[in-house]
Amino acid sequence: PEKPLYLGFDFGTSGARMVAIDDNAEICADAKRQYPVDAKKELAASWRETLFNLLQELPVAIRSSIMAVSLDGTSSTTMIVDKSTGTPLHPPMMYNENFPEALPFLRNIAPPNHTVLTGTSTLAKLLVWWCNHKQKNKSNAVLMHQTDWLLALLHGTYGITDYNNALKVGYDPAEEEYPDWLLSQPFSVMLPVVRKPGTFIGFVTTDIADTYGLPRDCRVCTGTTDSIAAFLAARVTQSGEAVTSLGSTLAVKLLSTKRVDDARFGIYSHRLGDYWLVGGASNTGGAVLRQYFSDKEIQELSSKIDPAVQSYLDYYPLPATGERFPEANPNLTPRLEPRPVSNIEFLHGILESMARIEARGYKLLDDLGATPLKTVYTAGGGAKNVIWQQIRERVLRVPVLVSEQTEAAYGAALLALYGAGGKITILPRKVDVKLNA
Ligand code: ADP
Repeated sequence: PEKPLYLGFDFGTSGARMVAIDDNAEICADAKRQYPVDAKKELAASWRETLFNLLQELPVAIRSSIMAVSLDGTSSTTMIVDKSTGTPLHPPMMYNENFPEALPFLRNIAPPNHTVLTGTSTLAKLLVWWCNHKQKNKSNAVLMHQTDWLLALLHGTYGITDYNNALKVGYDPAEEEYPDWLLSQPFSVMLPVVRKPGTFIGFVTTDIADTYGLPRDCRVCTGTTDSIAAFLAARVTQSGEAVTSLGSTLAVKLLSTKRVDDARFGIYSHRLGDYWLVGGASNTGGAVLRQYFSDKEIQELSSKIDPAVQSYLDYYPLPATGERFPEANPNLTPRLEPRPVSNIEFLHGILESMARIEARGYKLLDDLGATPLKTVYTAGGGAKNVIWQQIRERVLRVPVLVSEQTEAAYGAALLALYGAGGKITILPRKVDVKLNA
């Protein structure tokens, strides 16, 4: 018989990816698709089409070896669907859609500084839908995230989510329940059931199994959010290990034994097994580099920087006014002066200043009680810059490594492997070591 395989999907902002891995977490197949560009097509329909198009791209020879499937989607992308048929009752409310009109009400019901207190939270979206559909019969409506809905298309049961996606609707992952202030609201009847990421929910429907040549006992497992899936991909399992994502912005995520939340800095913690994934995001990052240099120029100029030497320039690179983390100041203006004649020195100053912001970020998490930083893995477009890596190592004073895998789809495939009972550590667990006397 062929070796068993596990399938992960990542539904990002512009397209989706699929990765199949084996028991050793080695990649055996992958495929990528942009969402179809058709202004008349509903968003949800274009995701569904992409999911099934990707399944269609699975090499025929390996289809019957797919033991389990999982998936990640954009965090707080919210859907209201019919519980029994899965039909969307409203177009998806996207991750970045903002409903500030929900905030006064939410502030009245949620504890101060709670994660749901932003206009983009899932709870804000649920509330706005509830209030705008007062007359309609809502008894069959359930809240789902993009992740849950796409997984439900595969297993057929609507209204189940995971505790990562559910964080922004107000679920308490420490107590593993919805808090009373939420359950006492009339719209709480629409809240989905919550499971740990990577939990086996049901087999693929026989219809899908037979159409795509999957085994009828192929397991569908709960998923997670895109940024957590990307973190899982790095295979970080020890507290004190972190992933810095150097994309358009600079985001840090640290595995911690202690939960840290601070709304002032936009810091919040996702549960990951018995640990917490503490994260914060600065507005600095690659978007600023792009304002001055092409990727090719960055590469050429970087190779002429001596990373062992500290830059004398003290910048605060921002693409526009305003910073959240590690400095909470909506009026902070970009500081990129004085600009030296040499572009090498200028870039050196920017890269070094960004490394200082990254170090301040980890220092802030430490100050707030998170596990001290031990090692940093790097993801995103800036990860390929070895000179920057050496600058960051000098500034951060811990080893800085490049993660082998950074694709969220790979993290989702790990969840599928985990959900199928694979012996892998992705959701870290505290183990009591008992020595025999
Ligand atoms: P995102 O997905 O957040 O848009 P990516 O992870 O694709 O971003 O990274 C793109 C960013 O990486 C760009 O803003 C670019 O400036 C930066 N970048 C590209 N090449 C390099 C490099 N060699 N060194 C540092 N940054 C780079």
